[in-house]
Amino acid sequence: MRLAIKSFIVMAVLTACLNTWGQGPGIDYAKIEILTEKIAPNLYLLSGSSGADPGHQDAAGGRIGVLAGPDGIFMVDSQYAQITDKVVAAIRKISPEPIRFLVNTHLHVDHTGGNANFVRMGALLFAREELREEMARGNPGPDPARLPVVTYGLGDPVKFRLNGEIVDLIPVRAAHTGGDTMIRFENADVIMIGDFYRNYGYPFIDTNNGGTLKGALEALESTMQLAGPNTRLIPGHGTIINRTDIVPYRDMILGVQAKVQQMISEGKSEQEVLAAKVTEPYDAHVPGGLLPAGAGTSADRFVRMVYQQLKGVK
Ligand SMILES: [Zn+2]
Repeated sequence: MRLAIKSFIVMAVLTACLNTWGQGPGIDYAKIEILTEKIAPNLYLLSGSSGADPGHQDAAGGRIGVLAGPDGIFMVDSQYAQITDKVVAAIRKISPEPIRFLVNTHLHVDHTGGNANFVRMGALLFAREELREEMARGNPGPDPARLPVVTYGLGDPVKFRLNGEIVDLIPVRAAHTGGDTMIRFENADVIMIGDFYRNYGYPFIDTNNGGTLKGALEALESTMQLAGPNTRLIPGHGTIINRTDIVPYRDMILGVQAKVQQMISEGKSEQEVLAAKVTEPYDAHVPGGLLPAGAGTSADRFVRMVYQQLKGVK
């Protein structure tokens, strides 16, 4: 009985944590299939199939990157722990080489849940020092093997040279979370940018884990400067974009920010700002924007975050 109550509490806490991260309960892990897309001669993207993850209806979990070749596999993000076997099976169709390196774009469980599984298979895990601190606070679980072994701060990119590629781990100042990294594959002209940009639902900035609105806007600017005209930018979720796609996204954030700032200067409360539906001019262009996300829609979550960031509450 005592154990039942204990596990109920653990489940309740876990569910609450997942909700703050935008992943509702009810993920049908058994239904998820891993889809592989080759985007350069030795670079692949692995995505979960649609319709199994209520928080990510278009593709379950976060997108994985796999750089394959004779020097061993370099991997970006580790998906939900529950589907590691499927991810490994998809990797084995690409290459029999050992999985040597894993890097996390950011903290969230749809990108890091499988960390411990891949570390136990021999991968050396890299991430921002800030991510390690955020993760060590308790999410997504107590297993120490999920924590990054090699960490780095803001500053020059960490560089890997393997499989004929130069890979740069580019630290991003507090944006989607406090410990974001972009991963650039120089020869393939590809940058995996994590979740500070998204084209399914409104922006999610996790201020409980160090993310900031200002940092997200800065990250969008620096991505546009870093990318060339043909660079493919790979978000953690949604479709592949190039630098021009960032412009309307940034302008939407600036437009909502200006409207919320105006309402704040008129003395409006958070509830009044939410009730004003300030995203309305953009709703038709944001797929999934009015779907549930945490408490309310992703539009509500976004506007609440903008309000709180401008008020200096969070
Ligand atoms: Zn995320």
